[in-house]
Amino acid sequence: MSTRDFIEKDYYGALGVPQNADAAAIKKAYRKLAQELHPDKNPGNAEAEARFKEVSEAYDVLSDPKRRGEYDDARRLFGAGGAGARAGFPGGFPGAGPGGQPFDLGDLFGGGAAGGRNAGGLGDILGGLFGGGAAAGGPRARSQAASGPARGQDVETEATLSFEEAVLGVTVPLRMQSPGSCPTCAGSGAKPGTSPHACPVCSGAGVTSRSQGAFAFSEPCRNCRGSGQVVDDPCATCSGSGITTQTRTITVRIPAGVKDGQRIRLAGKGAPGRRGGPAGDLFVVVHVAEHALFGRKGEDLTLTVPITFAEAALGATVTVPTLDGSVSLKVPAGTASGRTLRVRGRGVPGRARSGDLLVTVEIAVPVRLTPGQRKVIETLAEEMDEDPRPEITAAVTAGGER
Ligand SMILES: [Zn+2]
Ligand SMILES: [Zn+2]
Repeated sequence: MSTRDFIEKDYYGALGVPQNADAAAIKKAYRKLAQELHPDKNPGNAEAEARFKEVSEAYDVLSDPKRRGEYDDARRLFGAGGAGARAGFPGGFPGAGPGGQPFDLGDLFGGGAAGGRNAGGLGDILGGLFGGGAAAGGPRARSQAASGPARGQDVETEATLSFEEAVLGVTVPLRMQSPGSCPTCAGSGAKPGTSPHACPVCSGAGVTSRSQGAFAFSEPCRNCRGSGQVVDDPCATCSGSGITTQTRTITVRIPAGVKDGQRIRLAGKGAPGRRGGPAGDLFVVVHVAEHALFGRKGEDLTLTVPITFAEAALGATVTVPTLDGSVSLKVPAGTASGRTLRVRGRGVPGRARSGDLLVTVEIAVPVRLTPGQRKVIETLAEEMDEDPRPEITAAVTAGGER
């Protein structure tokens, strides 16, 4: 969905609802139209098909609060549907809103882009208009950024942890790459010993205007790409951009109990802020390696432990490992194979309550028997004349009589 789509398409009109319609009204209108226009009901009707697509697209946007907000913003900003918007593209900015009020370019940039942060929403809209160069290109953005503090960017990175590290928590060093001010030219983009000077085309304003018919157009200066400054000898390190990728290593504490695929937020650990602004946040996507013995079910750890038939029948105390030392586990007499026993508090440590260790016992059947063992088991078999599967026996008998 491009910004231009947002500005040119009338989604409210497509669904026949007012702009202040609530979610329920939008859904109701969509359902009714989707039923009427469905291709199954209108075979070969190209007009119905086109309307169906239009209605679906409108509902896609208007049923998503975030996208609906962006759509509303785009239309409010650019005088959607009015002459201003239509006439304004593709030349550049519409010079006047539909009501004839002057369209203030500065207000646009004052909104979201000036923070230096990709906030989505308005940033995307501006990005669409300028073909990508929005944040650096806007005159107001530049002048505001030059005077006020700016928050650092959010940064995302990944970390691979062992099973134990994920369960118990760990402090890890992370190598991070993020854009920063070029150290060679201190961010000016000019070769050391030279300095940037005001753009001769826009006299340093970063924006040019022209008029066409009833409309005045303002657009970013093409000569300086909206920065208001030009560099004659670009800095070799950053090719004149003033920005380079910088690597730094930071130490972060991963809390206990993180899960594979989890995205954790470390406030203030992202890219440093500029001119005293706060740092951005760091998001770490965690990958957790599997463990040879333990599994994990939420806050509980799982473990399968083989026991002998004698231990299961007579009861026994077996020693089982945990992630932190070992514990004695009492297996009651008459424990069935596959039964799960709970060791409280030996799972994933938690602030309020720790998880448990769930031990599933499995009766190990000997593969080879010594003559002595065979004899004892044969004696056991003779002693055990009780039928262990009465339901099965009954089913077999009933089947035979049928
Ligand atoms: Zn440089
Ligand atoms: Zn210029």
